[in-house]
Amino acid sequence: MVSIKEMVSRPLGYSGPDVPDDDLLRACVHCGMCLPSCPTYRLTGNEASSPRGRLWMMKAVADERLDLLDPEFDEQMYQCLNCRACEAVCPSGVHYGPLVEAARAQLEEHRPRPAWQRAARKVGMELPFADIRRMRLMVNALRLYQRTGLSALLRRTGLLRLVRMETLEAMLPPIVEPPLVSGAEKWTAEEATDTAHLFNGCVMSTVFPHVNRAAGRVMAHNGVSVDVPVAQQCCGALHVHAGMMDEARRLARINIDAFERGDAPVIVTAAGCGAALKEYGFLLKDDPKYAERALAFSERVRDVTEYLGSRDLVPPTHPVAGTVTYQEPCHLAHAQRITSEPRKLLSLVPGLTLDEMKESSLCCGSAGIYNIIRKTMADELGDRKAANIAATSAGTVVTANPGCAMQLRTSLRRNGTDMPVRHIVEILDEAYGGEPRMANLPG
Ligand code: SF4
Ligand code: SF4
Repeated sequence: MVSIKEMVSRPLGYSGPDVPDDDLLRACVHCGMCLPSCPTYRLTGNEASSPRGRLWMMKAVADERLDLLDPEFDEQMYQCLNCRACEAVCPSGVHYGPLVEAARAQLEEHRPRPAWQRAARKVGMELPFADIRRMRLMVNALRLYQRTGLSALLRRTGLLRLVRMETLEAMLPPIVEPPLVSGAEKWTAEEATDTAHLFNGCVMSTVFPHVNRAAGRVMAHNGVSVDVPVAQQCCGALHVHAGMMDEARRLARINIDAFERGDAPVIVTAAGCGAALKEYGFLLKDDPKYAERALAFSERVRDVTEYLGSRDLVPPTHPVAGTVTYQEPCHLAHAQRITSEPRKLLSLVPGLTLDEMKESSLCCGSAGIYNIIRKTMADELGDRKAANIAATSAGTVVTANPGCAMQLRTSLRRNGTDMPVRHIVEILDEAYGGEPRMANLPG
């Protein structure tokens, strides 16, 4: 925490580590081509809430024309969803993600926070994500809470609203399987032509372990033997997005060590994790011991749709009748530029029809913990998404990221529908003969 003396003597601009890169900032030519793609600009029509406006502010702080602690700068750095839609359409190649992440790291370093906020960040961000065993314990308790019917009871009594936990509780999907513990399971192909390592993820391995298991089965069915290296931890994406760079780097080093045996691809089922893992090279660029290893690790990372979409797959033979629509996760479409492979995989499934929704790559409002800390704008984006889904003939939404899955589910329910939300790899698994793993909660 900054002291009063430091507050008085600090410069107006950036200082210390994690400064937004000046060359990247200069790359913006203020053409405005990114504005129509920006969700916050579309909702507000405000130039300051656009990528161009935010980049102008970041540069103004770098030049000490604007104070780092100016409240409007703080507001805009955190109103941004870090969805990176601006990056994907920018003709000058502005690498926006690392810029806004560095700006947030500067705010976290130099801005004093009230004690209650520090405590909330410790409880909400540091404790559960620092060690996957802690996350497993927590999610096991939540699974029990769902299965005993306690969740329905508390909802009916209004107690959840009283303790302001209603929003968080509503976001939690049914947890249908016990956690996937790294090192405890693997999938062996009958005639293996390749091997791969699964990145387990903290939320995917605990709240959505059935998706990771589906990915293992689908890969094994296609000649790839898959293991889940022990000692891996959370990818650190949420920490990078929240400007908590030291913790993100600590987790990155652990993961690099965990996957260093061999050079097999690292397969990821969560778009947000995949984008973060692919940027470890950038995150650790100033670490003499890890810089090169981080780059080599990032090179091996593949989203599961990217990996499967690049292979000649065994044609699936079990029809999955129905119509789906596809919600593109921002960190798949914009940060990793993966757009055709998910659609190609869906087209392989017999009996399945894809009905594209309008604005499929516009952020759904999830954006890490944005839908918890900035509920109004997240709800507006979620409602817009629900309306676009309702305008299709789909009975199921498919996506490829846990945050999107939770936000879509909550938004659809708020708009009066219980439409299932599934990962692409779950659909593929079913098309190869796997059992659909969906559950309804008691009550
Ligand atoms: S970020 Fe790119 S698209 Fe947006 S104003 Fe700057 S140069 Fe133009
Ligand atoms: S990351 Fe998304 S919300 Fe932020 S400026 Fe770019 S397009 Fe807008």
